[in-house]
Amino acid sequence: MSSPVYDVAVIGGGIVGLAAAQSLSENGVASIVVLEAEDELAQHQTGRNSGVIHSGLYYRPGSDKARFCASGREALYRFCEKHDIDYRRCGKLVVAIDDSELPALDRLAERAHANGLEGVERLDASGIRDKEPAAVGVGALWVPETGIVDFGRVATKLAELLRTRGGRILTSARVQKVATDADAINIETDSETVRSRLLVNCAGLQADRVARICGMSPKIRLIPFRGEYLELEGSAADRINGLIYPVPDPRLPFLGIHLTRTIDDRVLAGPNAVLAWKREGYRASDFSVRDTADTLLFPGFWKLAAGFWRTGAGEMYRSWNRAAFVNGLQRLVPGVTADQLEPSRSGVRAQAIDSEGRLLDDFQILRADRMLHVLNAPSPAATAALAIGQHLADMASTALR
Ligand SMILES: Cc1cc2nc3c(=O)[nH]c(=O)nc-3n(C[C@H](O)[C@H](O)[C@H](O)COP(=O)(O)OP(=O)(O)OC[C@H]3O[C@@H](n4cnc5c(N)ncnc54)[C@H](O)[C@@H]3O)c2cc1C
Repeated sequence: MSSPVYDVAVIGGGIVGLAAAQSLSENGVASIVVLEAEDELAQHQTGRNSGVIHSGLYYRPGSDKARFCASGREALYRFCEKHDIDYRRCGKLVVAIDDSELPALDRLAERAHANGLEGVERLDASGIRDKEPAAVGVGALWVPETGIVDFGRVATKLAELLRTRGGRILTSARVQKVATDADAINIETDSETVRSRLLVNCAGLQADRVARICGMSPKIRLIPFRGEYLELEGSAADRINGLIYPVPDPRLPFLGIHLTRTIDDRVLAGPNAVLAWKREGYRASDFSVRDTADTLLFPGFWKLAAGFWRTGAGEMYRSWNRAAFVNGLQRLVPGVTADQLEPSRSGVRAQAIDSEGRLLDDFQILRADRMLHVLNAPSPAATAALAIGQHLADMASTALR
C-alpha cells in the first residue's frame, strides 16, 4: 500500500514554518505535515533571540521587511491577546550617544514616518532621563509600538493550534533527501519518508542546504553570526525600565548591543555579532568542518570580509574580552560595570550573502515547481512570522488549486 500524500509538507519547526503551517490550516488546507530535525520545536533562532517585537523602524519603506514587520507585529499582538500569551507593548528608546549620531537618528525618524509608525517622539537629553534614568545621550527616539514576548511560547501555541486542526508534526525528522515524481514530492527524513503535493522550506540556518537537497541552486549562502548575551544582575537590572538601543550602523543588518528587559523580567545585554564556525554553534569553541568550509569557500564571504574586516575584528575582540564588551555598553548606560554582568544565552543568526559579498537586506522567498523556499528570514522575521506565514500559505494555497 502506498503512503498517503499530504497537501503540504513544511520543513522546519521554527516560528516561520509553524506560522506557515497554521495559516495553511486556517486557509482550509486539509493535510499538512511539519518536519523538524530536532526532538523539540523552536530550538534554534526562534528560541534564542532578544524577544523583541520590532516596530518596523529600521526597514526600507516598501520592502518586505517593512510590510511584514508592520502587519506581523499587529497580528502578533492580537494573537498573544487571544491566546493568553504574556507580552508587553513597552516601547523602546534609540539613543544617539553624541552629535555625530544625530543625522542617523534623523534618518530613522524619517523612516519611522515613512513606515507609518505611530506615536514616535524625538527626545532630548532630559527626555532620555525621564524614560530611562540610567541611559545617557544627546538625543533619542521613543518608539512606543515596540514590545516584548517569548517567541518560543508563540511557536508552541502555533503548534498546538495546528495539531487541533489535524496537522501532523514530526520531530527528530531531519530532511535528508528529496525526489519528485509525477504525483508527489518524496521527502526522506531520519524517521520516515513522507509524500506531499507541495513543499515549503523554512529550515532557518539550513535553508540554503535544504534548497540544494531539493535540486535548487540558490545563488546565496547562509553565513552564521553568533550573538552572545550577558545578563545584568539584581540591583543593576532594576535600573533598566525597558529596551535601550544604540543608533545602528546603517550598512549592517544587526542593531548593535542593546539592553532588553525580557518578558520574564531579566535584563539582557547584547547580542554582539561574531562570525560562527558552526551553524548551530552556540559556544565560541563550537566548530564544524563542513560549515566552516561552506563559509570560507564561498567567494562572497571574502568580498564581505574585505569590506567589513575592521567591524568583524572588533566584534570578535568584544566576544573574547568582557571589558571591551562592557565598554561598548557603558557608552549607552555608563553605570554598568563588568562585575554586574554574567554570561547568558547565545543565538546564531542565519544571514544570507550573495556571491558579490552583499548582505541580503530583505526577506527572500524562492518559488519553484511545487516548492517555496524561505532563503533569508533574519530579524525581524520572528516579529513578522504571522504575516510571512500568511503570505506563504496564500502562495501555497494558490498553487494547490
Ligand atoms: C541572537 C538573535 C536575536 C534575534 N532577535 C530578534 C528579535 O528580537 N526580534 C525578532 O523579530 N527577530 C529576532 N531574531 C531573528 C529571529 O529569531 C529569526 O528571524 C526567526 O526566529 C527565524 O525563524 P525560522 O523559523 O525561520 O528559523 P528557526 O527558528 O531557526 O527554525 C528553523 C527550523 O528548521 C529546522 N531544520 C533545519 N534543517 C532542517 C532539516 N534538514 N530538516 C528538518 N528541519 C530542519 C531547525 O531545527 C529549526 O527548528 C533574532 C535572531 C537571533 C539569532
